[in-house]
Amino acid sequence: MSRVLVVNTGSSSIKYQLFEMDPQKVLASGLVERIGEAGSKLTHRAGDAEPLVVEERVTDHSDGFDRVFKAFENAGGPITDLAGIGHRVVHGGDRLTAPTLVDDATIQAIADQAPLAPLHNPPNLLGIRIAMASFPETPQVAVFDTAFHQTMPPRAYRYALPADLAGELRIRRYGFHGTSHAYVSRKAAEHLGRPAGELNLVTLHLGNGASVAAVAGGRCIDTSMGLTPLEGLVMGTRSGDLDPAVVFYLHREAGLSVDDIDDLLNKRSGMLGMAGANDMREVARLVADGDEAATEALDVYCYRIRKYVGAYAAALGRLDALVFTAGIGENNDAVRAGVCQGLEGLGVVLNAKRNKGRPKSPRTISADDSPVAVLVVPTNEELEIAEQTLAVVRG
Ligand code: ADP
Repeated sequence: MSRVLVVNTGSSSIKYQLFEMDPQKVLASGLVERIGEAGSKLTHRAGDAEPLVVEERVTDHSDGFDRVFKAFENAGGPITDLAGIGHRVVHGGDRLTAPTLVDDATIQAIADQAPLAPLHNPPNLLGIRIAMASFPETPQVAVFDTAFHQTMPPRAYRYALPADLAGELRIRRYGFHGTSHAYVSRKAAEHLGRPAGELNLVTLHLGNGASVAAVAGGRCIDTSMGLTPLEGLVMGTRSGDLDPAVVFYLHREAGLSVDDIDDLLNKRSGMLGMAGANDMREVARLVADGDEAATEALDVYCYRIRKYVGAYAAALGRLDALVFTAGIGENNDAVRAGVCQGLEGLGVVLNAKRNKGRPKSPRTISADDSPVAVLVVPTNEELEIAEQTLAVVRG
């Protein structure tokens, strides 16, 4: 039993990868999109074969999983030899602080966190329930996006709110993208040939959602996302940090409701709101065409990251490496250059030539004499979930 199926069940999607872990290899992967909507489809890829695309009405998540299992039978063979199934779960709150074998108590605990992640935890749980019914003999493991950040001290995770209210409603900073921050911190240490326990890192996960973590000796001591993924950096469609009074002002002056403001700050702000495009490739095209709004938005984007790097260098006391990852961190050298610009005083010196391109494996992009190493480390959240699942299953 050396295979692990990794499942990420969203509100309208199911992403999956089947790994052989010994030796490590992706056997198949795929995605069911737009579940319950017009234009729903399944894309399944087995090994190096051409992807199998099935465009059909996928009515609900159960139907979606049935189609995934059927796709395996049609391409790659049925799913056998499973050591475990690993599920991505967004919010573990402050109780679920490590990958956990799923039993009734875990299910209840994930359900208890649902008010903190109403769009994510219920579909995550649905995926777990369906997988348990389909593979009753196979251990299921929940891996939490928040877990890596549970080592933050109170000075980093507390908001300055009345203690009783914050305690009762569990209002504090949790942080997200933990699986990615954990994976790239470990890979960065391997790449540098130094024990993770000796290194102080700032990891920058820059995808559609984006977050920074300060990692001291392999443990997270601070991160930019908070109670929800809205806090922190400028993102594709999220505003990131904002004076909370903007919310009251929007309500009073523009007559927006709480739901309107939620939608505005999560789905219509960030790069989309400022530049008119949330995809950084589109923003880059606009900048190249001389578009002023896009140019300014990109400047805001990089400046916000730079401020966090400075803040986290102070939080860590000493910075050994700055690590870029995810869609933008791995592929956009202009953003990497924009972030590092002016950080020489903190010991961050980029090598322009090394910074070019899209490395597919960990690469150093700083100058030889840069006191702080700057790295690009491609993330792989699925593999991290598979490894953590196997570790839990094998005890
Ligand atoms: P998600 O948070 O949805 O997983 P990703 O990590 O895929 O997001 O990041 C999406 C962002 O990465 C987009 O803004 C996109 O422009 C950028 N990106 C992805 N691939 C490339 C590429 N090959 N070249 C430049 N930018 C890319």
